[in-house]
Amino acid sequence: MRFRRLKLSGFKSFVEPAELRIEPGLTGVVGPNGCGKSNLLEAIRWVMGEGSPKSLRGGGMEDVIFAGTATRPARDFAEVSLLIERSAAEADNDSLGESEVTRRIERGAGSAYRIDGRDVRQKDVALLFADAATGAHSPALVSQGRIGAVISAKPVERRMMLEEAAGISGLHARRKDAEQK
Ligand code: ATP
Ligand code: MG
Repeated sequence: MRFRRLKLSGFKSFVEPAELRIEPGLTGVVGPNGCGKSNLLEAIRWVMGEGSPKSLRGGGMEDVIFAGTATRPARDFAEVSLLIERSAAEADNDSLGESEVTRRIERGAGSAYRIDGRDVRQKDVALLFADAATGAHSPALVSQGRIGAVISAKPVERRMMLEEAAGISGLHARRKDAEQK
């Protein structure tokens, strides 16, 4: 799976609609302190289904919505879309190629997810990324301080990280689902 493009609107400091192409290879984000580098990585994690406001440096999920400044009013929603490209091996026949995953949150109304414009559940988005060995908690996304967390993790936690990296956490999620039925 490759990430091709990220679109943000009203997400944290990205108040105006912004669009970034993600080219093949290593992507570096540079800029002065506080310009929004970490917010970009958090937008990627958020659209992939991150459910913990704390890991997005917020107290509640609505804290991802632009909160306003002295000169600009707050927004009442945040929306992030991630365009992904899947290989034939990763995709079902009906969704081969490019897909766009969108998450939107409105004040007082919670989060909604769409894949290519269709309403889906958080779980559908999580499984899409789990099958491709990535996801909101993927070791492929290394945020500030995360290296230390990997090094000091307990064996069980480190196994979970490795399983996610190996792409088998999607299987675990399905097994849990099947056991509950
Ligand atoms: P550093 O180099 O220090 O790591 P950074 O480029 O990673 O900085 P971020 O942490 O991504 O910067 O951005 C911080 C900025 O985002 C702060 O100015 C903060 O006020 C702003 N910000 C975060 N959440 C919101 C929000 N909900 N509404 C408006 N601004 C926000
Ligand atoms: Mg940062």
